[in-house]
Formats: sequence, C-alpha cells, structure tokens
Amino acid sequence: MTRPLRLLLASNNKKKLAELQHLFANAGLALVLPSDVGGVPDVVEDQPTFAGNAEKKACSAARAKQCWALADDSGLSVDALGGAPGVLSARYAGTHGDDDANNRKLLAELAGWPSYLRGAHFTCALALARPDGTLATVIEGRAHGRILHAPRGTHDFGYDPLFEFTEAGFAASNRSFAELAPADKGEVSHRGRALRELARVLPKLLREA
Ligand code: IMP
Repeated sequence: MTRPLRLLLASNNKKKLAELQHLFANAGLALVLPSDVGGVPDVVEDQPTFAGNAEKKACSAARAKQCWALADDSGLSVDALGGAPGVLSARYAGTHGDDDANNRKLLAELAGWPSYLRGAHFTCALALARPDGTLATVIEGRAHGRILHAPRGTHDFGYDPLFEFTEAGFAASNRSFAELAPADKGEVSHRGRALRELARVLPKLLREA
C-alpha cells in the first residue's frame, strides 16, 4: 500500500487552516499543520504581487520541511488608489491586522469619490511547492465589487464591511461581504474561487509527482 502524500498547509491563520482542511478532507492526502512540524520559518512578505508572496511562503516551507506545501496571500486592490492597499492590505494603516484602522484609512482615502469610481477587487493567490522547494503552480481567484461609503453587515473580517460584491447573477450580488454567511461568501469570494480551482488541478499535479 502506498502512503498518502503529505501536504503542509503553510499558514498560521486558524480560519484559513480550517477552510483548507475542510476542502481537502476527502482528497486522500495526509494534511500536515505547521504545529505538527514544529512551525514553519517566518518569511518576509516583500514581493510586489500576491502570487510572489504566496510562492515565497510555499517554497520556503516546502524546502524547510521537505514535503509538498501550500501557502496563500490575499488582499484588496482599489482602482482609484492605483491598486492600493494591495500586498499591504493587512498593514495599510501601519499595524499588522488592525482591521478597524485599515477600514478608516480606506474610507478617508476615498472621501469624495462617487460610487461609480469606487471599483475594487479582492485577490487570493495560492501557491503549491514541491518537496525540493520548487514551485508547482500558483493559482489566483478574484472577486469584483466596489467600496461602500459606510460599513454594512456583521460578518466582519478585514475589509468585508466596506466591500460590496457587484458581479451580476449571484445570490450574493449587491451585498457587502460582511452581509453574507461564510458559506455564501465562499461561493463567490476570491478565496473560494482559488480553492475550488486548486482542488480541481491538485490530484493531477500530485499524481505527476
Ligand atoms: P493575508 O492573506 O493573511 O496576508 O491577508 C491580507 C489582508 O487582506 C487581510 O488582513 C485583510 O485585511 C485583507 N483580506 C484578505 N482577504 C479578505 C477577505 O476575504 N475579506 C476582507 N479582507 C480580506
């Protein structure tokens, strides 16, 4: 009997880990968490793109632990701000992960801009690295919308209360991400889209290993 392939989920974010574990529950993989392998090395997220940062994290973890590794990077890009906050989304207002301060700064930067000029999108990049630390694939998912003039909704994470999903034809259309239950957000979100695409291509990639 062949042993299942080990896949290290290289994230310290509990919500992301739970989402990934759920997605790969029946994939026949041995999922490995950072806590199972004594942690993964810290990586400076200094790349200009989400894909670049995801690749750096995945390759570093794979090389350190000599197994397949998956890492992600995500954030918000606002058209009127030339793509900001972009890769700096988590620390837009200075302190890493201060969602309230980030949202206040975003509203201040867009003060006076009418709704039709407040276009924005979320991006999630997922990178899969081989045990030798080389990149196997990087996948991006996006969700398009616009920045509201005031927060809406209570399921708040990050910029969710300020992001109205505007793609037509979905149950989630014209709702803020914070107005959606997690499963409904996952149907259309950048992360849900990237994860579903990864689940689609992963078996083939691992078979070729
Ligand atoms: P990271 O991918 O953990 O580095 O997160 C980047 C930052 O982007 C988060 O701290 C949030 O501010 C923002 N972000 C990423 N995905 C979402 C989302 O689904 N909703 C709201 N904010 C998000």
